[in-house]
Amino acid sequence: MPTPDTTSPSHFIRDIIAEDRRQNKNGGRVVTRFPPEPNGYLHIGHAKAICIDFGLAAENNGVCHLRFDDTNPTKEDIEYVESIQDDIRWLGFDWRDKLFYASDYFEQLYQYAVQLIKAGKAYVCSLSPDEMREYRGTLTEPGKDSPYRTRSVAENLDLFERMRAGEFPEGAHTLRAKIDMASGNLNMRDPVMYRILHASHHRTDDQWCIYPMYDYAHCVSDAIEGITHSLCTLEYEDHRPLYDWFLDQLQTPCHPQQIEFARLNLSYTMMSKRKLLQLVNQRHVSNWDDPRMPTISGLRRRGYTPESIRTFCERIGVAKRNSLVDIALLEHCLREDLNKRAQRVMAVLHPLRVVIENYPEGQMEDMEAVNNPEDASMGTRQVPFSRVLYIERDDFREDPPRQFFRLAPGREVRLRYAYYLTCTGVVKDERTGEVVELRCTYDPATRGGWAPDGRQVKSTIHWVSAAHAIPAQVRLYDHLFLTPDPGADEDGDLAASLNPKSLEVLRGCQIEPSLAGATPGSRYQFERQGYFCVDLDTRPGTLVFNRTVTLRDTWARIERTQKGRA
Ligand code: ATP
Ligand code: MG
Repeated sequence: MPTPDTTSPSHFIRDIIAEDRRQNKNGGRVVTRFPPEPNGYLHIGHAKAICIDFGLAAENNGVCHLRFDDTNPTKEDIEYVESIQDDIRWLGFDWRDKLFYASDYFEQLYQYAVQLIKAGKAYVCSLSPDEMREYRGTLTEPGKDSPYRTRSVAENLDLFERMRAGEFPEGAHTLRAKIDMASGNLNMRDPVMYRILHASHHRTDDQWCIYPMYDYAHCVSDAIEGITHSLCTLEYEDHRPLYDWFLDQLQTPCHPQQIEFARLNLSYTMMSKRKLLQLVNQRHVSNWDDPRMPTISGLRRRGYTPESIRTFCERIGVAKRNSLVDIALLEHCLREDLNKRAQRVMAVLHPLRVVIENYPEGQMEDMEAVNNPEDASMGTRQVPFSRVLYIERDDFREDPPRQFFRLAPGREVRLRYAYYLTCTGVVKDERTGEVVELRCTYDPATRGGWAPDGRQVKSTIHWVSAAHAIPAQVRLYDHLFLTPDPGADEDGDLAASLNPKSLEVLRGCQIEPSLAGATPGSRYQFERQGYFCVDLDTRPGTLVFNRTVTLRDTWARIERTQKGRA
């Protein structure tokens, strides 16, 4: 379990829990839960909830339960149950032996419902869905009592039992709580507790054909498990009176406290599971773990570290008001972490051939390269150097503009870890005029990158030896959406707001040979380019890399200008 960052500022939920413990509420115990519905993969928003639920439990020597809220069999799947567990573990959290399913409680939930019927607090309603909507009223008008509201307890018990026995088709009846059809809170207008669904469940098969609704199942499950603090997102604030109502009516073992916090919204990122599923089904992305997806599995495949995601979740804090967080902050946390741990290597993404005319043919030297200037313990490695190299096409200009200090005809630059190099000629494709090769000379006295006569060069470029480099495919990613707030428009056309340039595939990249055999998930900094991670599609002989993030840090710039203004 990751240790909490004790330097992190407090927030209102931390404060509430600290106060509860001071007063020895719940005997000083802290038990939280994370309650995903297994109807999709977890995303970065869930990561925030996970860090809060598991993090606060850990900080307080408590435990966080993982409970699948599997009350809607038509949308749920075992694939999701498994991916959710993998993702939480990968983030670094542990539910110990506290793995539960709402479906474990179907019998108890049923018995509690019977209790409510017997107490005259629930009834079987036979309005059609359309009628029910009509009777419900609006925000400005009160609802009307259902004509079935006055059914006797005996009749309700009989009908509810026969609902369970499968006697009725879907939609024929529901079980509703008897609260107040005139309540200003629509959630309190006799909410549905059970509906009939003739659907197989991934855990209970065909044992049930009535399924509890979230609002009823959730609070009772919390109480059965002895949850002390039931933390959820703000959209449940209006449901809290109902949460409390159910627990007040029932003789449950305890009454957990529901506390709401703001959900995470991230710029250029879609956070609705329903829409993410659409992206997958409509093949806009390769799958849930496409490196452009905001899912935990997508971020993992892209090369994110669990540490960077946890740091991000800590930095954004926990507030009571929804806001939009700049994705540059997430990327900043990632760079900070990768900067410490990623090995530096040289990789040429757009190769341009360089022939060093005064370097002996057939000769090869090993150049010593530093693995990580941030961490001396990562040591050094040898990189082969020879007569024919590849450099980045962008590092050469035949006709350099004023501020361009890299290679140009007659210009001298430093080859990283190697020698000074001067461009003496250019070979072009006769037909297209495209530069296909540079002719150069090197200065043998500058080995290691310094001239004994003290002459300076203005730039250092990276390279690989053509005879030794290994080819690779590199996938460059950009935001999946063009608009900063793609989630804002509920019914907007997903396809229209997608960024057509969110994926660029580069074939024929050249990588230094130390990366031969690199395994999926390994992360590197390609010097001067960014952080990259070996993709799952890598096969023997075909390395595939994902660009995790570029080196340019827009968040650092935002912070600097903010400081400048303050
Ligand atoms: P839906 O209920 O529409 O399927 P959901 O994203 O709420 O989608 P759940 O599986 O119910 O999915 O979420 C599990 C938990 O994660 C809930 O407690 C929810 O409050 C929390 N959560 C979901 N999205 C976010 C978010 N963007 N930021 C923070 N917490 C979130
Ligand atoms: Mg939900």
